Amino acid sequence: YAKGQGRNNYQCFTSSMNQKVSERLLLESALRDALKREEFELYYQPQYDFSRNRLCGCEALIRWNGPDGLVMPDRFIPLAEETGLIIPIGAWVLEEACRQGEIWNRATVEPISVAVNVSAVQFRPELVVEVRNALDVTGFDPRQLVLEVTESVLMSDVDGSVRLLQQLRELGIRIALDDFGTGYASLAYLKRFVLDKLKIDRTFIMGIPEDKDDVAITSSIIDIARHLNIMTVAEGVETEAHCEFLRAAGCNLAQGYYFDKPLPADEFSNRLQ
Ligand code: C2E
Ligand code: MG
Ligand code: MG
Ligand code: MG
Repeated sequence: YAKGQGRNNYQCFTSSMNQKVSERLLLESALRDALKREEFELYYQPQYDFSRNRLCGCEALIRWNGPDGLVMPDRFIPLAEETGLIIPIGAWVLEEACRQGEIWNRATVEPISVAVNVSAVQFRPELVVEVRNALDVTGFDPRQLVLEVTESVLMSDVDGSVRLLQQLRELGIRIALDDFGTGYASLAYLKRFVLDKLKIDRTFIMGIPEDKDDVAITSSIIDIARHLNIMTVAEGVETEAHCEFLRAAGCNLAQGYYFDKPLPADEFSNRLQ
């Protein structure tokens, strides 16, 4: 009896394993096709400057127009990273964001910046060549390109990261530390990594103004960054109360549903006008 039941459980286990494996294989080949068929699309979430009350830039966020509709990055970026597909996808993102940014900046008086997310797999010496190539073929002004990296990306090899950040900044581009406060970098690294922007993670903004800890953490990040001459960007700004607190605390830029969701390029163009 015990054996029989064991066998049933085992069969159950293997069939669900097989299902997982074949789902992954399907997704992997679908991702490969998606690149060839140009099914990826960048959405752009506006960023606003508190001191000037104007739209000053955006973050490019990838979407996949798959056979069953729009797929969000959390559903396919992890597998793209595991399979190495993030390398060609990431190169496409860089070039597409620069191409679009150049179109916008030809038409606007005050240039806007475009931020691109870079995953750990992409963060290696070849990234310098990929960024330079995207800038060269599009003519986008390097000063308007921002690369977003997370603490864990930088911490996996601190010395290598310091060198790579240095080389990237020599291209004239800027670096933002994404999801700041959720990783495990200590404050000492804010000195070693030369950074232009800190993005305060949404989980801290969410608690403002009721949660006294979130209030303390957010204002402290803003103060430290200001003293280190690093700009602060609040992510996930959803309410007027968030906005008023951040403005009073001296945060530089804000991004979130209170202003806009990530928008397709043509809708972002309308916002610019
Ligand atoms: P992230 O870089 O931290 O991007 C911010 C995420 O928060 C985005 O989710 C954005 O849509 C969402 N968001 C913005 N404002 C609000 C708000 O007010 N409330 C809430 N609840 N959410 C808000 P999204 O677009 O699903 O992207 C998720 C993550 O996927 C990004 O996190 C980033 O790590 C990654 N990702 C997106 N595009 C790319 C890409 O082109 N390359 C790589 N390597 N990763 C990407
Ligand atoms: Mg980001
Ligand atoms: Mg973020
Ligand atoms: Mg995030």
